[in-house]
Amino acid sequence: MLIVPRCLVCGTKSDRVDLFRELQLSFPNTNYSENQTVQSMLVYYFKPEKLAEDNQCYCEICSQLTVREHITKIMAPPLKLFRYDPSSHQSIKMQHSICLDEQLIIDSWINQLYAVVIPCGSSVDSGHYFTISKDKNDWYQFNDGSVSRTSSEKLS
Ligand SMILES: [Zn+2]
Repeated sequence: MLIVPRCLVCGTKSDRVDLFRELQLSFPNTNYSENQTVQSMLVYYFKPEKLAEDNQCYCEICSQLTVREHITKIMAPPLKLFRYDPSSHQSIKMQHSICLDEQLIIDSWINQLYAVVIPCGSSVDSGHYFTISKDKNDWYQFNDGSVSRTSSEKLS
């Protein structure tokens, strides 16, 4: 993942590369709708982030704290769905339904969705998981020793 912070006073940019295994998509704090899709959450994830007020950063060119903009780009995919709770500083699994897009455009990459790992319960990072995965045009649910045919249309 490439993060490009830019000082909005002098325009200086600096690139930073972060390694990642998954994209931790968050539900927007506002504008939640029942028709939230993975694609719309990706658009939200990659919106430039403005760091102002208490989040200003020191700019060596301006020699002071300045407002910055962070632009995030990725070099290669995957995702995770959650909402970050700033009051508890924890990732919270959302209990909402979500529509899965079988084709996802992430930055400039076009990806075919073929598997989703779904955590049961309220925790993002622990507990029981099951997977749905695509074989040709059919979707299957893999849950411990059980495999059953399923649909990708709506998951909750
Ligand atoms: Zn500056």
